[in-house]
Amino acid sequence: MAHGLFQLAPAPSRSDGRFAPSPTGELHLGNLRTALLAWCCARSNDGSFIIRVEDLDSVRTRPGSAEQQLSDLAAIGIEWDAPVVRQSERSALYREALAQLRAADLLYECWCTRAEIREAASAPHGQADRYPGTCRELSENELTERRAGDRSPALRVRADAATVTFTDRLHGEVSGSVDDFVVARQDGGYAYHLAVVVDDADQAIGEVVRGDDLLESTASQCWLQQQLGLARPSYVHVPLVRDSDGERMSKRDSSVTIAGQAALGNSPALVRDELLASIGLCTAGEQIDNDELLARFRTIIVESNQ
Ligand code: GLU
Repeated sequence: MAHGLFQLAPAPSRSDGRFAPSPTGELHLGNLRTALLAWCCARSNDGSFIIRVEDLDSVRTRPGSAEQQLSDLAAIGIEWDAPVVRQSERSALYREALAQLRAADLLYECWCTRAEIREAASAPHGQADRYPGTCRELSENELTERRAGDRSPALRVRADAATVTFTDRLHGEVSGSVDDFVVARQDGGYAYHLAVVVDDADQAIGEVVRGDDLLESTASQCWLQQQLGLARPSYVHVPLVRDSDGERMSKRDSSVTIAGQAALGNSPALVRDELLASIGLCTAGEQIDNDELLARFRTIIVESNQ
């Protein structure tokens, strides 16, 4: 967990913040540190802080996982200001946003399987990780034929490889090209990008603080905000905690969870200390309270204006 210090540009204004875990297993130390930082960003700036459970993927969501995650967050001193919201209860909002995109002619049906996309992307002129455009310009005949088949389509946005630039308080100005990403899955579920953008706006989130594995997705989310006429929050993508081999932590490694640490004799207070120590906010074993944490966060992590 040896991480250097990092510094954030001053916050633009008072902003409410959130932590939005997917309940697919226990939170690992990396998730917990991101949650602490998200909490610090909101509270150090007089914003309120909420938790949103991102449980749209019914296959990956595990029963009891959300409750466990909330209890782990509370155990390391994170407090939230409003009842926890679950995405699985907010379909009406996502349906409305999808209708808005459809009315603006920004959606098309896509029947491609993951394997087909992978194959097309690995062809000589294909681009890895980008949708190859197979279903983008289907003729009326091709559409009729596919609609008559037994596979249901996903819905993709027509983004025309737009380039979007946004500002991140840690990474500065970031530009990204927007792929034709999926907003409604083949199984009829709403996709992450759609739900996150709709929810952040509906919940008046002024600043999104999350792991830097999502930095690349942010251009797509900003593009979606533009199309839906939603305000853009400020962004902070914080470094992930790496394990001792420099790899991303995995929910499968049970020693890097609160329960796993407890089994090794390490209390949640000690875990909190280690996480804060890894970004220079305390020394090991110091056990600072939330007021002291916010005071240090303001002076150590946020660059002063002077
Ligand atoms: N639910 C996402 C995750 O657990 C985070 C989404 C976000 O913070 O925007 O990776």
